[in-house]
Amino acid sequence: MENKAVILVVEDETVISNILMAKLRTMGYRPIPAFTGKEATSLAASHCPDLVLLDLGLPDIDGMEVLANIRRWSSVPIVVLSARQRDEDIVQALDNGADDYITKPFNNAILMARIRNALRKHPIWKADQNQIRQSFQNGSLIIDYDKRIVTVDGQEVHLTPAEYKMLAFLARNAGKVVTYSAICKELWGPYVGDKRTLRVNMANLRRKIESNSADPRFILTEIGVGYRMIDSDEPEKP
Ligand code: CA
Repeated sequence: MENKAVILVVEDETVISNILMAKLRTMGYRPIPAFTGKEATSLAASHCPDLVLLDLGLPDIDGMEVLANIRRWSSVPIVVLSARQRDEDIVQALDNGADDYITKPFNNAILMARIRNALRKHPIWKADQNQIRQSFQNGSLIIDYDKRIVTVDGQEVHLTPAEYKMLAFLARNAGKVVTYSAICKELWGPYVGDKRTLRVNMANLRRKIESNSADPRFILTEIGVGYRMIDSDEPEKP
């Protein structure tokens, strides 16, 4: 299996965070660090990770609450990595939607195996690997699916993974109206609900690819329904 999965590493202790980040990079993953519960929640929404590795003892919000928050709108696999060893904690985490629970101190090889296992069950990651088309072009917008590179007017545009997934999904459905819930499902799995997070991501994406968001060249808003990527075969607007 190709290891390009984005992994959000939620861990407040710098030493442990550094060890995890280094190990995950060695394994070919793309880890992103978060040191507080708030940071974890916002990065989970903006970066759309393929897996979350979650510590429970965090300085601001308890990890158990972070878990419940993310589960309200995302089905991303969550592996809890905690010093809490009581059965009640493990049961509560699993009941709140954790896919796995590993106690500290942990064995590196076992942790990596549990991560691989959780990723294998992830439908979003699988769908992404099955991308068939190599590239998409719409006027001056070009998406290279293979390299995950987006250019507008010849300039490379840097997108977060969530923005990229949203753009790629709209491009695959160019010309069709795509509903809010279909996009949420594509990005975060079956736990549909957070339209606000979707709107924030969409606003950021548009700021990056449209030169004038009042007169969009690529993505149109279908009020109350969703969005539509303009098909390049459509006649130019008068
Ligand atoms: Ca901690």
